[in-house]
Amino acid sequence: MKTNNSLMTQQTESFYLNFGKQYQRYTNKRIIENKKCNALDGDVSLSISKSFWFLSMSFLSIVGGYLTFSFSALVVFLVFTAITLCFGHSLGMHRRLIHQSYECPKWLEYFFVHLGCLVGIAGPTGMMNTHDLRDWAQRQSECHDYFSHKQVIWKDAFWQTICDIKLENPPRFQPEESYSQDKLYQWMERYWMWQQLPWAILLFSLGGIGWVIWGICVRIVISTIGHWLIGYFAHNHGSRKWHIEGASVQGYNIKFAGLITMGECWHNNHHAFPGSALLGLEKNQSDPGWWVLQIFSKIGLVWNIVLPHDLPERMELTCLQNEVSNKDAI
Ligand SMILES: [Zn+2]
Ligand SMILES: [Zn+2]
Repeated sequence: MKTNNSLMTQQTESFYLNFGKQYQRYTNKRIIENKKCNALDGDVSLSISKSFWFLSMSFLSIVGGYLTFSFSALVVFLVFTAITLCFGHSLGMHRRLIHQSYECPKWLEYFFVHLGCLVGIAGPTGMMNTHDLRDWAQRQSECHDYFSHKQVIWKDAFWQTICDIKLENPPRFQPEESYSQDKLYQWMERYWMWQQLPWAILLFSLGGIGWVIWGICVRIVISTIGHWLIGYFAHNHGSRKWHIEGASVQGYNIKFAGLITMGECWHNNHHAFPGSALLGLEKNQSDPGWWVLQIFSKIGLVWNIVLPHDLPERMELTCLQNEVSNKDAI
């Protein structure tokens, strides 16, 4: 075992190596399976709405981005991208809405999830559904290449940005009533694309069309491509010390991507401890989303933060004796 582990990880390891306690397999309560369900058989097809959205944003970004470039527009793009990825995608959609790995006031959760919608990939239910189905598929003994990112990179890019998969026998997705019956989340889901509009108007009034192109269109395209790219690498390349027995797909930690992904690149850790609010478990694993949670916790806006040792033990989880890298580890 590595000697430079943080105290956190050492505690986690000893906890999980402490046999004799009750073990159970990890399950997601929102995914309802039956015996016919399988993650392998299905077809990938072009999504009209995704294609229209992504390709029109790409066109506006390439043409408009070139014509309207300015230093201030670039700053708007960088700041707005960092805010929406960190507070919206990572803390709002992923760590709060999907994994409920911390608690916060409802108004703050709504605001974070709204920022998550602004990333421009999906609304709250769509994001949760896509995430849960992929995670479920990756835990099966075999799954479609769409879920495992095992096709060549260009085909995977095409699939993940503008296509959908339709499984022949999918599990049923059933979100908690606290989300599915929530009127504001229903509205956010229905109008997730339109939530850009007030921000576009604000940017236009402050900095003209260049700020709109860079703050909205370029940001959405770069965030969507980045989201796919990190998903591709985090299931194909990198290193890992945790192994999920029986899963067809393992997650990998991508070194050097901690800051740019807000901590989401520590995907081997996430496969091992999906409910943990902390993703960068080791000392040298930067996790900006976690840093923000710590600040919010200090000022009393976040509480009940879940860590790996708070989670039920998993019988299928093994800590590898040595961290392994696949041959193309980055
Ligand atoms: Zn994964
Ligand atoms: Zn997750």
